[in-house]
Formats: sequence, structure tokens, C-alpha cells
Amino acid sequence: MTSSSIQTLFDSQKNKATALRSAPISERKAQLSKLKRWILDNKSRIYEALYQDLHKPQLEADISEIFPVMAEISHTLQHLSEWTRERRVSSGLTYIGTQGKIKYEPKGRCLIIAPWNYPFQLTVGPLVSCLAAGNTAILKPSENTPTTSRLISEMVRELFDPSWVTVVEGAIDETQTLLSLPFDHIFFTGSTPVGKIVMAAAAKHLTSVTLELGGKSPVIIDESANVDDAAKKIIWGRFTNNGQTCIAPDYLFVHHTQLKNFLASAKKHIRKLFDPSSVGMRQSSGYARIVNPRHTQRIIDLMESALQEGAKIAIGGTYDLESRFIEPTLLVDIPADASIWKEEIFGPVMPIQSYDSLENVIEHIRANDKPLSLYLFSKDRRTQERVTQETTAGSMVINDVVLQYAHPNLPFGGVNQSGIGKAHGHYGFLEFTNQKSVLKQRVGFTNAMLFYPPIGNFKKKVL
Ligand code: NAD
Repeated sequence: MTSSSIQTLFDSQKNKATALRSAPISERKAQLSKLKRWILDNKSRIYEALYQDLHKPQLEADISEIFPVMAEISHTLQHLSEWTRERRVSSGLTYIGTQGKIKYEPKGRCLIIAPWNYPFQLTVGPLVSCLAAGNTAILKPSENTPTTSRLISEMVRELFDPSWVTVVEGAIDETQTLLSLPFDHIFFTGSTPVGKIVMAAAAKHLTSVTLELGGKSPVIIDESANVDDAAKKIIWGRFTNNGQTCIAPDYLFVHHTQLKNFLASAKKHIRKLFDPSSVGMRQSSGYARIVNPRHTQRIIDLMESALQEGAKIAIGGTYDLESRFIEPTLLVDIPADASIWKEEIFGPVMPIQSYDSLENVIEHIRANDKPLSLYLFSKDRRTQERVTQETTAGSMVINDVVLQYAHPNLPFGGVNQSGIGKAHGHYGFLEFTNQKSVLKQRVGFTNAMLFYPPIGNFKKKVL
């Protein structure tokens, strides 16, 4: 799409954004219900697109792409009247004679930029919050999942007038053009380096941003943890969608007394979860693929350079570039300065470090970028409290992984390098909302008048 047609689309949403400010909430609800109906009626098209783009098994598509969006719509429909209701605040003595309230008004014209790893959910999920808050939207799905991008474009054309919601398909050029426009809010999901580009572009117009970014999410298994239970959950969280999940456990610290048992359990669960019919991981229909050859090569390079630096393969290690296949792989004995400790892996390879002292683990986490998620497996309450207290992360989960994502009442997002702002449910609604303070003078006098010049008046009345 050319720059001038993108500009025309943007301009065409101006009047609608103004009209939506005073439209009844029922209009937003009706649109969300239509979206829900479309998803239910077109599930097979969604499965097909996700299979084309990512070889995504149907069960994974249901759990991680369709269900979260359906749940987001249902939760929003249930609470929208309450979220949009004006809220009176108390005036206190200082503001006696006035009435203060918060009005939840739409921000206006919004831009939603999505990544490829959950290409349906991460485009349509933010759209739910955006519509709920009464905005217009331009969606920019990822060019790396072209079939899903096309399907989203068709869905939007079937459901919305382009002056309300429209899709711009494309890659960097199209995104750069969109980023040059004075949107009222940008909701970006993607990598940390591109997040910086988005924030710099938004700064030119002082457009507000939500940045849902990536990074390395550590896991700790201490000496008290149920190691088989931990292994099952970590293997599921790490290798679902071939490790291409922003909150997937990225690397693992395991207490040295637990390492041997962890590896034995991990081996068992890899087979049970991703090759249940024992046909071999390459043939298994339960195991997804890397999105494209470039990313497959990037992960292979990361693994090979760790091996050259002295790491050893504990499980897995085979790959085939042509079919974008990398076996679920666990690495041990990795030197502290290996690049695999620094770069987000975003694939089916997990480095493991055994430890003696929790102190050192906490220090390592604190010395690096603030993670999107932090996972701790421990039965010891004091350890649970200590790690919660002494580390920071967008979210933390104790004795499980990834579950925080779909919790309807928890904010989802990162902190600094892993993200700015929060998504989902009420928090997602607030990201797309201006919480406008409205203060009404009712009696014609406030205590503030005591401070009007000349200063002599103030002294006379108060001092
Ligand atoms: P990406 O940053 O490469 O791309 C995201 C979007 O930005 C795409 O739509 C792309 O077209 C656009 N883009 C890419 N380069 C650009 C540039 N130079 N200028 C302008 N736009 C550009 O991310 P990705 O590879 O699609 O997704 C993977 C990353 O996203 C990982 O880092 C992952 O952790 C992160 N992620 C975060 C979350 C979250 O909720 N926090 C969810 C999913 C993925």
C-alpha cells in the first residue's frame, strides 16, 4: 500500500473517531458481539491460516489463539458498562463547593502493530480493548505470517466500515509510514529493538504508547521443588509453538541436587507432550515449526556458537533448516559469557545452569534487563517471598508457567526493557482510554480564592 493511501485511510477515520465519542456503549458491545460470532463461525479458516504460517497444531490454535480472544470479548462484554461509568470522587474540605468526576473517554485514532508468533490473538486481542474503549483502529499484522494477515484483513472487511477499523498489510515500509502519522495511541507488540523505534516515532507527536516487548524470562527450580511437576510445566511452556512465545521460560537455573532428575523428567515429558504417538519429533503433528528460514538459522547459530564455546547437549540437538525443524533441545555446561545468555532465544532451545547459591541467581537476574516474566518452582515460602521481593519482572508465577497470560483480572505487560503499559481486561481498556478529570464549580467560591493576589488579602484572611 502506498504512503498516500495509508494517509487517506488515516484521514478517513477522523470523523468516525469524533462520532464515537458520543455514541452509546451498546454500539461498541454490538460490534464486539459481531466479532465473537465471526470467530466462532470461521474457526476452520483460522486453523488453516495458522497451519499454513506456523504448522500450528489445532489444539494449540484453540488454546493460544482463539480461546484468549473469545475470553477477552466475553469478559469485556460483561464489564464494559461498569468500566465506562463515570466515577465521582470526593472533594474534601479544600474543594468544598465543587464536584469532581472521572470520565472515561476514547483516545481517538489508534494503531495496533502485531508480531507473528501468535498472529491472530496478538492482533485481535488488542482490538477488543481498543473497540471497547470507543476508538477507531488501523491494524498492522505481521508480514511473516501472511496467510493469517490476509485472513484478518478479510475478517475486518466483512465486519467493519474502514472508517472504524481497517487493516494495512505490509512490512517495515508500511509500518514506518503508519508510525509517521499523529495517532492518538499506538499499541505495539514485538521485539525490544523495534519497540524503541516505535517509541521514538511516537515521541515526535507525543503519541501515547503501549509496548508489549520481549526479552529473557528466567526460571528457578530450588531444592524443595517437585521436580517432575516443574519439568512437565516448563517443557510445555518452553516448547509450545516451538518456543516462539514471549513469556516462554527462556533459561533455567536448577539447584544442583535437582539437575539429574530434572533432565530425566524433561526427556519423558518432551516425548509425552510433543510426540505422543511416538512417530518421532520430525513427523509428529503435535509439534509446531519455526516461522521462517531466517529465524531457524538464527536459532541454529545461537545453539552452534554455544556448543563451540563449550556447552553440551543434554537432550535433542538435531535440526533441519529446510523444513524449519529444530528438535526440543536442552543445553548444559554453558560458559557465563556465551551469547545464548544474552539474546532472547525465541525458539526450542533452552540453556540450563545448575546453582548452589540463590544469592547468585538473584544477582544474575538483577544484573540483566528486567524480564517480561519470572518463574519460580519452590515449596519454601521464604524463598517464594524472597524472590518476589528482591527481583522485578512484568509478571511472576510461582510453581507454574505462562498461566498468568490469560488471567482476566491480572494486568499483562513488561517493565522497562520488556515493555511499557499493561494489556488485557480492564487494564487493556484503560490503555486505550483517556481518564479525563472533570471538575465543576457549583457555588461560585472555593478556598483557592484565598490565594488570589494581592497577597495582602491572603494574609488578612488566613494569617
Ligand atoms: P518485530 O519487532 O520484529 O515485529 C513486530 C512488528 O513490527 C511487525 O508487525 C513488523 O512488521 C514491525 N516491524 C519490524 N521491524 C520494524 C521496523 N524496523 N520499523 C517499523 N516496524 C517494524 O517482532 P516479531 O519478530 O514479529 O515478534 C517477536 C518478538 O515479539 C519477540 O521479541 C517476542 O518476545 C515479542 N513478543 C512480545 C509479546 C508480549 O506480549 N510482550 C507477545 C508476542 C511477542
